[in-house]
Amino acid sequence: MVSSSKSFDDAQLNNDGSPGTGTDTLAKEKRSQLMSRVRHKGTKPESAVRALLDEMELRFQLNRTDLPGSPDVTLPEYRTVIFVHGCFWHRHPNCKKATTPKQNAQFWKEKFERNIERDAQKVQDLEALGWRVVTIWQCETEKIEDLTNNLRKIFKDGGKTSGMGTC
Ligand SMILES: [Zn+2]
Repeated sequence: MVSSSKSFDDAQLNNDGSPGTGTDTLAKEKRSQLMSRVRHKGTKPESAVRALLDEMELRFQLNRTDLPGSPDVTLPEYRTVIFVHGCFWHRHPNCKKATTPKQNAQFWKEKFERNIERDAQKVQDLEALGWRVVTIWQCETEKIEDLTNNLRKIFKDGGKTSGMGTC
């Protein structure tokens, strides 16, 4: 199975390979292409969250690039940001979606470690700026009822940041 190198190469992140001239760069490029494709494909959990926020008539902004980590969703009135994390890429603890590919285990390990580090850094930076950071995991968006309850809790109890009563 493993020996069908050609199609394998195209379809997978195969880096065990041939001592090569320049193959590494190529592989790297391919890898990041594939990754960004995967990442962008994962917009569905995010839209589930957005739909719920809409339903709750909360006002939010998307991908604010002026904030650390450009959070997926920002609710300025609550001084709250939401990250919707893919369980695989962001390593949801104890989640069955957070598998580790057998191929290139070392590469993935490092990749994941960087992701986790980066995520932690974002949270730190945002909290330092006075934002509350909420992380919603992809698998949580599959249980809409629980997610709804969670969001209700966050935004009902959380209360808006003071505001002077003006509108
Ligand atoms: Zn998960």
